[in-house]
Amino acid sequence: MRVSGKAVLCSLVALLLLCGLVGILAGQRFRNRQEETAIPDDRVAVEAAAVLEGKYACLTFDDGPSENTAAILEILARYQAPATFFVTAQPINEPYLDQLPLIAAGGHQIGLHSASHRYAEIYRSTTDFWLDIKQLRQTLSAYVDVEQIHWLRFPGGSTNTVSHRYGGSDIMKDLVAQAEEKGYHWIDWNVCGEDATSAHPDAAAILRNVKEGAEGRDVCVVLLHDTAATRQTVQALPEILDWFADQEYEFCTVEQMYALTKEN
Ligand SMILES: [Zn+2]
Repeated sequence: MRVSGKAVLCSLVALLLLCGLVGILAGQRFRNRQEETAIPDDRVAVEAAAVLEGKYACLTFDDGPSENTAAILEILARYQAPATFFVTAQPINEPYLDQLPLIAAGGHQIGLHSASHRYAEIYRSTTDFWLDIKQLRQTLSAYVDVEQIHWLRFPGGSTNTVSHRYGGSDIMKDLVAQAEEKGYHWIDWNVCGEDATSAHPDAAAILRNVKEGAEGRDVCVVLLHDTAATRQTVQALPEILDWFADQEYEFCTVEQMYALTKEN
């Protein structure tokens, strides 16, 4: 069979275009997921599940306070469900910082997340990371007793690899060690609502993500968000709480869950 040079050229061009398209789609998918680590470190939940009787759900809300904090607090109060808020102090949070005392007064835990939440800055070096935490503590101190705050959650999780781009491949390992030296406890999650992805899932999808993630786990540390963009999380929250209650989970803060672990 004789194949013309033109046909070969056309096939090559088509193949290149196809490869390019696949590459673009794969890149898109990667970018959507890069903010949070694919495999968080769930050792706190695993250790807790090994020693605790019964089932526990720690709902955690990252990146607040926001315009949705009041609604989240109202729902949690209705269900008498303590939760944990890993807060930030970005300009977008500023109008809602007065929610912080209400979070604490509601029996919830406030944990540290980041002041700026800008990966390129906080993960540039370990020094930059702790300066950002210092800044966060300073901001929070006008609203709550920061001496009572002992837990933190690393933006993107303790195993995120985005940080490597800015601070090298050892940065998370170094930060984890330093956090422990400074007397902080830190925690990732083992259930993810995936409520802050660029896919903007609706309440039904968030509930489904939580149910699927919780499958077979006696201790669930559930990652959700408290931001202006995650209004659907508020919509999903009553059903998430109903579902965990139906499955006979007890709600507690991360700190409470950890304290129970130490009692046993
Ligand atoms: Zn975050």
